[in-house]
Amino acid sequence: MKSLILVIASLVIFLALGSASKVRYDNFKVFKIRTKNVEQQQMIEKLAANSENFNLWHSGNKEVHIMVSPQKVIHLQNYTRAYSLPLEVMVSNVQSLIDGEQLSKSTDDSTFGWTRYYPLSAIEAFLDEILAKYPAVTSAIDIGTSYEGRKIRGIKISYKEGNPGIFIESNIHAREWITSATATWLINEFLTSTDEDVRSLAENHDWYIVPVLNVDGFVYTHDTDRMWRKTRQPVNFSSCIGADPNRNFDSHWMENNGASADPCAQTYAGTEPFSEPEVKAIADYIASIKERLNILIAFHSYGQLLLSPYGWTGDLPSNYDDLMAVAEAYSNAVKAMPYGTEYTYGTSSGALYFASGATNDWAYSEQDIRLSYTIEFRDTGRFGFILPPVQIIPQCEDALAGLLAFVKKADELGYLEVKYT
Ligand SMILES: [Zn+2]
Repeated sequence: MKSLILVIASLVIFLALGSASKVRYDNFKVFKIRTKNVEQQQMIEKLAANSENFNLWHSGNKEVHIMVSPQKVIHLQNYTRAYSLPLEVMVSNVQSLIDGEQLSKSTDDSTFGWTRYYPLSAIEAFLDEILAKYPAVTSAIDIGTSYEGRKIRGIKISYKEGNPGIFIESNIHAREWITSATATWLINEFLTSTDEDVRSLAENHDWYIVPVLNVDGFVYTHDTDRMWRKTRQPVNFSSCIGADPNRNFDSHWMENNGASADPCAQTYAGTEPFSEPEVKAIADYIASIKERLNILIAFHSYGQLLLSPYGWTGDLPSNYDDLMAVAEAYSNAVKAMPYGTEYTYGTSSGALYFASGATNDWAYSEQDIRLSYTIEFRDTGRFGFILPPVQIIPQCEDALAGLLAFVKKADELGYLEVKYT
């Protein structure tokens, strides 16, 4: 009895701590700052590093989105005025966006749908249900184990022997919740859709899908800090935690300022290539099946962009024209949807920023997967990472339309020839 009371008491304390320790963003604002050159972009990035008062949401060569605590709004306004950088408010209160995102929570708790965002446990239950329901065409993929000891899970969908393979990595950045929502929706669609084109897409390709790669970070965004991006592995010479897993791959790691050496930065590259267990795990898995892969797509948000290699250099990849033709097909197909969502495309370094050690560069350069992309999903900054649940299904429909056109173009250009025997 005594121990039961103790257990209950500690549970109450734990629950109280759990809700009390959730990071709040009351009156935090996100500003859009127009920049004219890389120097100005880097100035803002520097401001964002090393401070709990700033958090970089997006950094491109034309505009930077930065979240600011209420205490530092004046500071940012003065700073940008001093350099004559145009400034506008993108989000006036981040906490109200987060609260709005949670509103739909109670509506369909019992079933997995796409009208709200789910925690990792629900996504895993969804995978288990799919695996149990479609044992003939699905199999579980054990990617490996995260720093905090969680299993990183994936699913393979294969309707027949001899298919070309498509790998989808998702939610490597913890706060990009729309990515795993899209990945799970696509899994469901590939198994249940009766649309002829979708059936052909599902059945004539082998799909390897990892809905949540950064499991520790993802759980942390649900339980503690909605805006967390990185892994959760401590850095032994710093009080800051985690590295940017999408800067941690062993391909031109840390070259050309494509990542940060500062553990407190959002783009910290880690202590060495593959220092993050989640990144090492997915790299090992992809390397083990690379003969089976023709296409790799890494799901991210936000920005509505398709990004091909390279991120680490401004040089163009040898099949640049084909990479752009495939991206254009995706972009045009999405634009033709009722939502009219516009995607732009280019190389990572050209269209967005220099980024070294990213999944798509590594897959392209080190694993010879000739069609490798990062896709930045909705939106372009109205809601940023906190895309309202009502947009989940429209976003997923955009992605499916885009993928259909993408794969068709890849086939036309000869990229779907099977490499294995
Ligand atoms: Zn991302």
